Amino acid sequence: MRRLFATLALGACASLCLSTPALAQSAPVVTLTRLECGSPAGPVDVSARFSDTWAYDGLKVPILFSCYLIRHGDDYMVWDTGNPVGSAATAPKASLVDLLAQLRLTPAQVKYVAISHYHGDHTGQVSEFPQSTLLIGKGDWDVLSDPKTQASVANPAPFANWISGGGKVQPLTGDRDVFGDGTVVILNMPGHTPGHRSLLVRLKEMGNVLISGDVTHFRENYESNGVPTFNTDRAASLASLDRFKQIAAHLKATVIIQHDGRDVPKLPAFPAAAK
Ligand SMILES: [Zn+2]
Repeated sequence: MRRLFATLALGACASLCLSTPALAQSAPVVTLTRLECGSPAGPVDVSARFSDTWAYDGLKVPILFSCYLIRHGDDYMVWDTGNPVGSAATAPKASLVDLLAQLRLTPAQVKYVAISHYHGDHTGQVSEFPQSTLLIGKGDWDVLSDPKTQASVANPAPFANWISGGGKVQPLTGDRDVFGDGTVVILNMPGHTPGHRSLLVRLKEMGNVLISGDVTHFRENYESNGVPTFNTDRAASLASLDRFKQIAAHLKATVIIQHDGRDVPKLPAFPAAAK
């Protein structure tokens, strides 16, 4: 019996005294930085397109465009690539490459470029990251890479590098734990588009952060389970919203709606990062 106790005690010490400090030392730093990814569209009348039940009569919302940089130790991931640079009213004043340069980063240091979905205000600058592994929902990748469907629904041009086989792409069929330690998880949230994804980032100081993609577009849209008229699947949209809300509740996560200007102050202002 005494020997059994000693063995158990040794076992407890082996896990508590050795493993835990070793793990704590090796845990990579995870940070989250918001990147402005277009010029704000200003107060937008959302009654026409963002509810298929006419829910937002005359409502005006400060719509803008957000991308994010996630640091995981020495690795970097960009989440969404916003509007293209150019002369359009919603084009960004500074490109993603310029913003990264302010953080002393080059596109070559970005290991993953992750795309929430194929709409042009999320994909506009993806071609600036040809060396990054593209992470995108398979449902969206299938549309982008199929010559029969691509141009009618989404613009495949920014993805030419990957469609041609010149870049690495991993079409996602479910959730993806990007770095294998649960800190950065791409979540399967179909409905807005066939392969739409949201993002969970688990930060040491700020806690859990849920980034919407376009599972929802603004606060009132989220609170009333609004489904835009242009979503590809109504039932899937509602199921994804339900899952997103349950995750937010269970993980006590800060929810950030990418297009809602009122959510920008939830993260430190660029170039600062949430930790
Ligand atoms: Zn969209």
